[in-house]
Amino acid sequence: MVMGSLPERVDVAVIGGGVGGYVAAIRAAQLGKNVAIVEKNKMGGHCLNYACIPSKTMIHIADLFYEITHSEKYGIKATGVSMDPAKLYDWRMDVSKKLEQGVEYLCKSNGIEVIKTEATFISSKTIQMANGEELDFDKAIIATGSEPNFLPGFEPSQNVIDYKAALMLKEIPSSMAIIGAGYVAVEIGTLFAKFGTKVDIIAHSDLLSRFDRDAVSMVKKRMDELGITVYTNSVPSNLDGTQLKLTTGQTLNSQIIVSAVGLSPYTANLGLNNTKVVLDTHGFITVNQSMQTSDPNIYAVGDVIGEPLLAHKAIRQGEIAAEAASSRNAGFDNRVIPAVIFSDPEIALAGRLDGDGINVKKFPLTALGRAIALGKTDGFIKIGYDKDANVKGVEIVSTDANSMIGEAALAIEMNATLEDIADTIHPHPTFSELFQEVAAAALGRPIHFYYGANK
Ligand SMILES: Cc1cc2nc3c(=O)[nH]c(=O)nc-3n(C[C@H](O)[C@H](O)[C@H](O)COP(=O)(O)OP(=O)(O)OC[C@H]3O[C@@H](n4cnc5c(N)ncnc54)[C@H](O)[C@@H]3O)c2cc1C
Repeated sequence: MVMGSLPERVDVAVIGGGVGGYVAAIRAAQLGKNVAIVEKNKMGGHCLNYACIPSKTMIHIADLFYEITHSEKYGIKATGVSMDPAKLYDWRMDVSKKLEQGVEYLCKSNGIEVIKTEATFISSKTIQMANGEELDFDKAIIATGSEPNFLPGFEPSQNVIDYKAALMLKEIPSSMAIIGAGYVAVEIGTLFAKFGTKVDIIAHSDLLSRFDRDAVSMVKKRMDELGITVYTNSVPSNLDGTQLKLTTGQTLNSQIIVSAVGLSPYTANLGLNNTKVVLDTHGFITVNQSMQTSDPNIYAVGDVIGEPLLAHKAIRQGEIAAEAASSRNAGFDNRVIPAVIFSDPEIALAGRLDGDGINVKKFPLTALGRAIALGKTDGFIKIGYDKDANVKGVEIVSTDANSMIGEAALAIEMNATLEDIADTIHPHPTFSELFQEVAAAALGRPIHFYYGANK
């Protein structure tokens, strides 16, 4: 919308046009509210423009390149295959552009005022735009997301970049050191290694330290094959040009250094001191089940309210905040928030496999026809269930784990039993049969894997 033609007042003002914000705006509009959304950069926020979508776009292309150049065992001998980084860049940018425009279209179609500027609270009733114009609201929803952290001395410079810049490189670097060993480091490191970059990962403790070691060992095996070196229990101590010294004694010489040491809530210039909104000790906005902050007029969703920092969590919270701000009875009561690491193989998780009274059964990919046919047998599924055989958690380490974990989340939400899953016909030959196989195994009636006489 053109600045200078703001409405004086709206029912709901959303600040931040990322996945949490635009979903909240659309849902509020569906409920008949007069809505404005204020975004200072690009509609679609980090997920669509700089993070989830660009990383998965580039992972797909890296996989394609790697498969083409490493398929001799299937009888495919590809010679003269080359990578044009400029075309890769154009494709990656076009994908984000399409999604950004799609979000703008959806907002406008739902009658939402899209205002492209920075918003600051000047009270619990009013926000001010960068040009000084003011907008009164009945309710506001904050969805301002997060920003990358940096270790002191390793802030962005000519040689140090963040994840956004790493996913917008116009050249494939010959070497890359990544500070950090969480999922962002693994995804970025693996994709560039598949393009031929020599990748080093510097892990403060260990690779993917918060994840199941059984799963991580599969990913680590693949990273070893790709020539990725992981320096564990190490942090960078000094940077001299492109020379990175580690506390463990090594010196790395990398063309590019990527910082991937986590995210912090983004509340800069938001004027929260002019409201009753309260932050926790890490700077995240505190909310109740309905996403309402300590200021009754103001709600908050997504990364800015804390872990897990995931797009689909922000989306659900956006819907809840919109409904609660529209006087509907809404609260976050989901049992699980699934998570996926787009590593090779992928790791997908829903619910829990540990804790009192939880039994776990595992089924290997080596026993699945589809996995054997594709030559992708590194991985497994694990299912966690209680004494009543209700499913409590699922972990999948596999190609396409991302598209299977939704079934696990649904099973847990619906309180499904092992029998429900084992007796549901899953199409053959597909990776989805993993569910049926592991559930049958947990019931003591495995078919395609022999667990021994005691099952
Ligand atoms: C490399 C990477 C890969 C990721 N991959 C995945 C993935 O595969 N799946 C997944 O679920 N999650 C993924 N994430 C996490 C995901 O990106 C975030 O959880 C998600 O973007 C959070 O959405 P949000 O709406 O809370 O905030 P954001 O997407 O950060 O949007 C916030 C918006 O608010 C705007 N803004 C901030 N302040 C103001 C202001 N004062 N006025 C106006 N506008 C303002 C910003 O410009 C921004 O556009 C990834 C993250 C990274 C770093």
